[in-house]
Formats: sequence, structure tokens, C-alpha cells
Amino acid sequence: MKKKLIALILVAAMTVLPGCATLDKMEGTDEGSSADSFNIEEEIKRDIKSVVPDKTTGWIDSDIKGYFKEDTPVSLKDDFAAAANKELYLKEDFDGSMLKSMVKTVRKRKRELINDDSVTGKNIEEVRKFVDMAENTGLRNTLGVEPLRPYVNAIEDITTVEELYDWITDTKNNPLGIAPLSVTSMERSEVEPDSYYVGLSKPPLLLEQDESYFSVNSHSMFKMVALEHKAENVLTRLGYDEDSIIRLLQNNYKLEKVLIGLEKDLKDEDEEDVTYTREQIRYIQGDYPVIEYLDNWGFGDCSRFTADSDYIKMLDKLCARNLEQIKAMCILRYVVDAGPYLDEDTYDFFKKCDEQKDVTPMPDRRSEEEKHESYIFDSLLAKTSLQGAIDAEYVKKYIDPDSYDRLYKMTEDIVDEYRNIFANEAWLSEEGKKACLEKLDAIKIHVVYQDEADYSDLNLLSAEAGGNFLETHYDVYRFEIMKRAQITAGKVDRSEWSPYLYELNTTQTNAFYSPQTNGIYILAGILNDPSYYSGMTDEELLSGIGSIVGHEITHGFDNGGVKYDKDGIEKEWLPKEDQKAFEDATSKVAMFYLTLKPYNGSGVYNGSMVQGEATADMGGVRVTLELAKKIPGFDYDAYFRHYAKMWAVQRLLEEEKILFSDDEHPLDFYRINVTLSQFDEFDDTYDINEGDGMYVVSDKRIAVW
Ligand SMILES: [Zn+2]
Repeated sequence: MKKKLIALILVAAMTVLPGCATLDKMEGTDEGSSADSFNIEEEIKRDIKSVVPDKTTGWIDSDIKGYFKEDTPVSLKDDFAAAANKELYLKEDFDGSMLKSMVKTVRKRKRELINDDSVTGKNIEEVRKFVDMAENTGLRNTLGVEPLRPYVNAIEDITTVEELYDWITDTKNNPLGIAPLSVTSMERSEVEPDSYYVGLSKPPLLLEQDESYFSVNSHSMFKMVALEHKAENVLTRLGYDEDSIIRLLQNNYKLEKVLIGLEKDLKDEDEEDVTYTREQIRYIQGDYPVIEYLDNWGFGDCSRFTADSDYIKMLDKLCARNLEQIKAMCILRYVVDAGPYLDEDTYDFFKKCDEQKDVTPMPDRRSEEEKHESYIFDSLLAKTSLQGAIDAEYVKKYIDPDSYDRLYKMTEDIVDEYRNIFANEAWLSEEGKKACLEKLDAIKIHVVYQDEADYSDLNLLSAEAGGNFLETHYDVYRFEIMKRAQITAGKVDRSEWSPYLYELNTTQTNAFYSPQTNGIYILAGILNDPSYYSGMTDEELLSGIGSIVGHEITHGFDNGGVKYDKDGIEKEWLPKEDQKAFEDATSKVAMFYLTLKPYNGSGVYNGSMVQGEATADMGGVRVTLELAKKIPGFDYDAYFRHYAKMWAVQRLLEEEKILFSDDEHPLDFYRINVTLSQFDEFDDTYDINEGDGMYVVSDKRIAVW
């Protein structure tokens, strides 16, 4: 088989160049490689030789594991990150990072919820059925690829265009809604900002990029090889022979090429010019069932649709002329999607196909149990709309309602304090100040609680009732699209926080600012020690979750935030001169980072990559230090030490290198040292003066806010 497949992809011998994959670097949720052949002790011994004091700052990269011994000299005045966290780093049971341990806590609690018989009701019932099905490897392995067979057969059985149209609009036989015209986006309209529109277009390409169909590059090679191996793996077991698999692949490539040629790129078009009502769509669709498709998927009440009308007009002809090619595309999509929901071998095989051979993966030293829990809760459940169901129960069980009040009040105080900061900011014009204040006043605060979740429409089949994991996946997917359709049919309401949009799920260990809603979101998953716990002191509150919220709010006013106005509409709202002044100020941050060398042989820091997040960090500390001034007897030492604990981390040099070159957040010890050294309160607390490593002369300070 291999020989022919390689012939098919033209020039297989081309070298695959690096740089076409992004790594998920979220600590503790990464699905790193399973290859774990290195000796950690040896690695650490080698690593710490690279840890040498930076010539400019005198700091060492205290993120590197194993550097500290009991007698390693450190001083708060010279290298705060190292000195404040030394004790922690010497502890045997230190988990590697605070973020990591928070992520673990959340997962552990989710498992407790699943196992806790006293938690009952529709939400948890459906989640349990999903998890049971995912973990029922006996059933999965027995069934192998069989659950997919009826779906592939239904496509094979199509012999006429009419039958194709019946299949396209049938949500039962076509549970993924695969069609030459698909719903590919649901977005807020710029023309009618209180409405959404449904974006209709050709489905996303199997090789992702248009160019991949016309010339061979490293990306297209990688994608083609992966697709072909996956198809071969599954389809052979469904009884396809070599020739028919090759024909399917060729037919699919042919069709995708045609689709690329037919459809106009709408990116540069005015939304108004490419928006249609249902009646207009009905008029231009001919016999092709666009409206029936939309109605069956729950989009019947949506009023605005964007599409290339010429493409829609061509669909009839396209289907009549390319029936076999369309069937090939549909079959391959079902195959590619099904991999993770079939037997374990298929899952593993697909995973291998997607691994970039040329990219060094983050070393994965998690236990088997941890990997499994991450697979269930982060890779599977968290990417479905069922996430809202477990989140609702999580919040009920683990979040103390008093915490909501304290956090809401704290966030209001932070917003208030920014009012003073903006009003007194020297580099903002009067007009710029006014614009910032208007946006600030319109921020919507969301703390922990999403809108009520209703899963009554979802009735997953258990194994006993004849279900299987692939069916479970299809049922949940259908439910999700129907829910998204409902949202899209409604009005834009910035105070809503839908439980069905898993991207916004509240058990992520994070907090974020959304420019599209001008909203700040504090998630339940970050409300763990050290960022938050009930009964924490004001000092811990402000340097923990407080500084994170302060950080996030600055994103509403930076290069990204400036593109969306106070109502979340894509529109620049800050005068040009103020934007320029902001850029000048942040370029100083970039310049400073250029001078830093964290470890021996690190190369030059990409200052412009980290300037945005470094600026946000300094904003978060600034605003909380302003609040501290209003608290009598505020313990600054406790504040700064807790801040250092928040970003405490121990990792291998290999991991640090990846973050150094790819992460837009500065390395953690810089998040501590660079940030804190900007503030008088810090110098005063530790009596820092010229000659100390943490001293920054005031005209060299780089804090923007
Ligand atoms: Zn940020």
C-alpha cells in the first residue's frame, strides 16, 4: 500500500521543514509525547550548568529545576524571584508549578463529582454516560471501526443527486452536517451589532490551506501523509481495497480543488454585500437544499446569512457533475473525525499521524493516571457542549457563594481604580482618557456562574441501551450545533454567559478579558490556592487573583483591545495619537527584554513577542498596589511574596527553551522580577537601593500603566 500512496502524493522525498505546528504549552494540560527515554537526574545535572547570572541584571533563571541547594546564597534585594521561592523549590513535593497543581485539583474534583452518588440530576447523568462510554474500552475495542460502518454505507448508497440532497439534510444519517455548503461561522454582525450572522461556505479543507492543493510544501506533505494513513487504517478494516482508497483520496482532492476555485474569499468583502435573508437564499439556492439544511440544524430562526451567492448558485451543477467526488469527500471526513471515538488502536494511530516528527515535543512526565484524566476531562469533555453540565455541578459543589461576592466587589474596585489611573496617565490625551473611561465603564463583570444549563434535549444512550462512543459523540455534537444555532438566532447580550460554548467554560484554570463582549471573566477553575481560597488575606487576594484580573483588564486597552469598542463592536475607538503613544511606551518594554539573557546560550529574547503580556503584568500589579494604599496596615512583604508564589515554577531547561522562543508571556522568573522592580512600594519594602540586583533607576522603568 505504501508505495502507491507515496506515488499519489507526488514528491514524498521532500524534507519536512519545521515551523508548521504550534505547541500547546498550557502547563499540565499538554498532551506531550509519550517518548520518555531521558534520564531526569542526568538532564538536571547538565541543565544547571547553563544557569549563570545574567550580565545585565545579575539574576539567575530560577525556573530551572534543581538549581537550588540549602546553601545556595540568595537575597531578596538582588534576585527576588529566586530568594522568595527558594524554600518552595527545595520542597520534595513541589509539583512544578502552581498552575499545574490548580489544573490537577480541578480534574480531581471533576472525578469526585462523577463518582459521588449524592450528586444527581440530568446534568451529571449525561456527563456520566459520556465518561462511561469513553472509558468503556472493552466495548470500544470489541466494536472496533464497526460503529462507523452504517454512516459510510449510507454515503456509499447514494446514487442520485436527489438522494445526496436527502442525505445532506438528514441530521441522523449525516450527524456532522457534512455538505459542500456548511455552516462555518456564527459571528456578531458588524452591520447590525445586536444580531449575529451565520456564515455559510465550503467546508474547511482536509489539508487546511488552499495552497496545499496546488503546490507541495512541508505543511501539505504532512497533512497529506496523515490523511492517507488514517484513511488506509480505517477503510481497510471497513473492507475497502487499496485501489478504492486511492480513488477516494484522489476524488476528494479533485473536489476540494474545485471548491477552492469556485468560492470567492469573503474576507475583504463588506458584510452588507454578502449578507442574505432566508428568502434571498431560498431564491438563489435552486434545487440545492440550503434552507432545508439550515432548518434541520436549528438555524430556522436566524435572519442573517453571509455567503458567496455565486457559489450557492453553482451547487446544483457541482453536485450533478461531481457526485462521486462529493461522496469521497464526505466519507473521508467521517473517517477523519471518527478516529478518537473508535477503538484504542485507532485513537493511538491517529494521534501518531498528527505528531510532527520535526518538532521537539514538551517532555511528558505525567503518570499514566494523570494522562488518562487529562484525556477524559481536557481532551474529550472540555471540547464538547456537555462541559457546561459538569461545570454547573462543579460550581454548586466547590464554590462558596461568599467568594462570588468578594470577587465581584474586588473586580469592581479594580475597575474603579483604573478610572483614576487612566484619568492621570501622562501619555494619554484628554480625548484618549475620555475614550478609555467610557470603555472601562461599560465593562461587564462575569464571576464564576454561567447561565443556567438545560440538557433536557440530550439523551445519550448507555452501553446497556445499545449505545457506543461514536454515537455519543454524534449526539453531543448535534446538541451543540442546535444550541449554537439558538444563540445565533437571539440578540447579542453582553451579560449572557452561555454554558454551551465550551470555549468559555468556567472550569478552565484561567481568567480572561473578551474584547468581543468587553467583559472580564473570572473562572471557577482558577479559584484554588494560591490564586484564591476562601479566607485568604487581602494581601493574598490582591497579589493573587487580583493581579490577574488587573492584568486581564489592561487587554481591553492594548493593541488588541483597541480594535473593539465599549460594546464589543469591531471598531477603533482610541485616538491615533494615543495608540501611537501606547506603542512607543510598549516598545520600551520590548527593548528591555532584548537585553535579557536568561541562561547560557539562550540567544536574544524576542522582546516584541512578550511586550504585550509583560505590560499587562505590570498593569495588574500597579492597579492592585493602588488599592493596597487604601488598606490600613497593608503588609507589602506578604503581598510581594505571595505574588512570587503565584509564578513559582520548576522545569527542565528543555522546557524553558521552548517557552523562551514561543511563549508570549515572559519566563516566570521575569514575570516576578521585571514586574516588581518597577514599583516604589517594592523598593521601600526591601530597602532596595542602587547596587542591588532588583534596583531599577526610575527613568529606566518600563511600566506602561
Ligand atoms: Zn494576558
